[in-house]
Amino acid sequence: MEKLLCGVDLGGTKLSVGLVNTNGRIQDKITVYDHAGKDEIMIADQIIRLIWQLISQNELSESDLRGIGIGFPGHVRYRDGHTLTTSNLKGFKNFPLRQAVADKFHIPVLLDNDANAQAFCEYKFGAGMGYESLIFLTISTGIGAGIILDKKLYRGMTGTAGEFGHTIVNSDNKQICTCGNEGCVMACACGLALPYLFKKKSEQGIKTTLALPADFNYSQVDGKLIMKGLEIGDPLSKAIIQECADYIGITVYNIFQIFNPPLIILGGGLTCWGEIYLTRVRKKFNELARDMIFDKIEIVESVAGCDAGLIGAAALLLE
Ligand SMILES: [Zn+2]
Repeated sequence: MEKLLCGVDLGGTKLSVGLVNTNGRIQDKITVYDHAGKDEIMIADQIIRLIWQLISQNELSESDLRGIGIGFPGHVRYRDGHTLTTSNLKGFKNFPLRQAVADKFHIPVLLDNDANAQAFCEYKFGAGMGYESLIFLTISTGIGAGIILDKKLYRGMTGTAGEFGHTIVNSDNKQICTCGNEGCVMACACGLALPYLFKKKSEQGIKTTLALPADFNYSQVDGKLIMKGLEIGDPLSKAIIQECADYIGITVYNIFQIFNPPLIILGGGLTCWGEIYLTRVRKKFNELARDMIFDKIEIVESVAGCDAGLIGAAALLLE
């Protein structure tokens, strides 16, 4: 029997552990939501317990697994298997998560950033199949990315390569990013930026046709509200989508100039804004790249879906 891959997708709200075959199909998975308030040692124990539960309910033994791949929502030092920082969970500062899990098994354990895992999933099984190099950009509450160069994930010196969210696209933007700088694309064009953009555009005099609740405050503005606005033709929502798309277009252009990749995949929650958004991203990119495009570059939407982090973490064992 072909050995299965075990993937762990550790997120801020959801923790999934799954058995995945080498074609990227999930054979079984367990998802829990009660981990978020716990500290790093308790979460490591929970991951270990869930993996054993999965092994047992599938009547397998540890030796039926090729290894365990863990995707983490924050910075990791890849070679040591340490987590460095995260804004989605408590603790995890310089925590040896890979070793903590590996101590309880006799199979290889890998730890990587969750956007790297998602990028690898797209490369192996999704929109990146058949490509040797690609950049994957995920745009939801924050912005993350994974870089595949010549069939390999590029991780940089520490393991934190691909933090395009903190590249600066507008130094005049006064919205402070989670990193403390002004003008990062993460402060301009993802979920974190939407309350600021809604307020800014309202103050500029753009009226919304959205029916807002009586107790409305700007912190309630998220991708779903703007999507609702898009559906009813709300001019304020449209203006926000255009501004976000323009900054992502600038980011895609910067990525193009650095890597010259044949493919850039956009994933994450805000891509639900659909064709109007993607078209605007491509338009901004083309305006900037003009006659500097010598070979075809594709800017496409992710196809891997909400299990990309889980499948990708497992697939890292095939790298
Ligand atoms: Zn930043």
